[in-house]
Amino acid sequence: MPAITNHLPTSELQALDAAHHMHPFTAGGELAAKGARVITRAKDVFLYDSDGNEILDGMAGLWCVNIGYGRSELADVAARQMRELPYYNTFFQTTHVPAIALAQKIAELAPGDLNHVFFAGSGSEANDTNLRMVRTYWALKGKPDKQIVISRKNAYHGSSVGSGSLGGMTAMHAQGGMPIPGIVHIDQPNWWAEGGDMTPEEFGVSRAKQLEVAILEHGEDNIAAFIAEPIQGAGGVIIPPETYWPEIQRICDKYEILLIADEVICGFGRTGNWFGSQTLGIKPHIMTIAKGLSSGYQPIGGSIICDEVAEVIGSGEFNHGYTYSGHPVAAAVALENLRILEEENVLDHVRNVAMPALHEMWHGLADHPLVGETTITGMMGSLALTPHKDNRAKFAMEAGTAGFMCRERCFANNLVMRHVYDRMVISPPLIITPDEIAELGRRARMALDECYAQLKDGDMLTPAA
Ligand SMILES: *Cc1c(COP(=O)(O)O)cnc(C)c1O
Repeated sequence: MPAITNHLPTSELQALDAAHHMHPFTAGGELAAKGARVITRAKDVFLYDSDGNEILDGMAGLWCVNIGYGRSELADVAARQMRELPYYNTFFQTTHVPAIALAQKIAELAPGDLNHVFFAGSGSEANDTNLRMVRTYWALKGKPDKQIVISRKNAYHGSSVGSGSLGGMTAMHAQGGMPIPGIVHIDQPNWWAEGGDMTPEEFGVSRAKQLEVAILEHGEDNIAAFIAEPIQGAGGVIIPPETYWPEIQRICDKYEILLIADEVICGFGRTGNWFGSQTLGIKPHIMTIAKGLSSGYQPIGGSIICDEVAEVIGSGEFNHGYTYSGHPVAAAVALENLRILEEENVLDHVRNVAMPALHEMWHGLADHPLVGETTITGMMGSLALTPHKDNRAKFAMEAGTAGFMCRERCFANNLVMRHVYDRMVISPPLIITPDEIAELGRRARMALDECYAQLKDGDMLTPAA
C-alpha cells in the first residue's frame, strides 16, 4: 500500500475514506455514495481542498480556530515541546511546566475567583468531569442527595455518555440509551421558534422561571447544579433575550445550587470578551473550556473551578482523570495560542474592527426574502430561514430541509456556513478582516439567492399550518 498523500486523485482518497473511515454525525452510506470533501491545507480564514478550491471558513473549523489557520509559532512550540518532554502525566503527585504555566494563565484570564483548572482532552471530557465534580462537591459537604443537574433542551455539552446526557439534543438521546438518570431538561430561550405571542423580554423571564419550577418540583435538597452555554452554539446560535440570564442568575443565587457555564464556544474571545459569561453578566462556579483554548491546533479542554469548589474537592481524593489531562504538547500549544490572542490584541481587533463589520454585513442579509431574523453577538451569529418573513413562519416540509439546501449552496459557492435545522450559523476566525467579511457576505447572499430560487421552483415555500 503506497503512502496516503495529498497527491492521490480526489476520487481515490474518497474511496479509501468511504471504505475505512467512519465520520462523526454523518450518514455514512449517503456520504460514501457522494464522496467527502478532502481538505488538504489552510491559511488564515481559507481552506483548500484536493480539487484546488479556496473555501472561506465561516465556522472557524468547528467554532475553534479563533486565531486562524497556519500560525507556524504553534507548530514550532509543539515541536520544541515534543523534543523536550513529549508526554508525562499529572497523576501521582507529579506535574510539568506546560500544565503549570497554562493553568496559571487561564486563572489569570478568568474572572472572579475562578482560579483552578482541571484539564481534559476535550469539551465532552470536561463536562463529564463537571458532572462528577459537582456531585462529589455536595457529597463532601454532607449533602449526598444533591445529585440532579438541570440542563436545557437543545443544549450541546458534548458527545460522551455523560456530556451527551447533559446536552438536550433529541436526536442524540434517541441512540444508545441516553440520557443517564439524574439529569432534568428545561426549555431553551429560543424566542424566534418558541416565543409565541410573548415579547422577547417576557419570554426570556418565562423560560428562566422554568429553572425555579424545576428546582421546587425536584426539591432544592436534590439539585446539584444548573449547566448552560451563555449562548447556545450547536443548537443554532440561540442568543437569549436580555431578560433571561439575570433571572437565571437570581434563581441560582436564591437556591443553593452550583452554576456551570459551558464556555467551550463562547470562551477565548468569541463574544468580544475573554469569556461569554462576562458578555452576558453571568457569575458561574465552574466554566467548561475547550475549542478556542488551543484554537483547535491541539485537542485540549478543561474546567475552571472557583476557590470554594476547588477547596472542597481538594479535601478528599477525586477519583477521576484522563491519561492526557494537561498533556504537555497540547498545553504548550494552548499557551502559545493565548499569548498570540493577548499580545496581538485580537480582542481589540474583534471589538473595534471585525465585530462592527460582521454585524453590519449580517444584519444586511435581513432584507432577503428567505431570511426571517438575523441575530449576532460578538463573532457568532445566526439567521432563520422562513417561507414567510412577517410572522416567523416555519416551513410545511420537514424541519432542516431548507437549511440543508442552503448549506449545499454555500458549499457550491466556496463558503462554509453550517445549518441547524432551518437556521444558518456563522462563527468565523476572530482574525477575519473587513474585506474577508464582505466576501463572506457576498457568498452568503449568493447561496441564499440560489436556495430561494430552488425552493420557489420546487414549490417548497409553503408555511406550516
Ligand atoms: C463542542 C462543544 C462541546 C464538546 O466539546 P468536544 O471537544 O467536541 O468534546 C461541549 N460544549 C459545547 C458548548 C460545545 O460547543
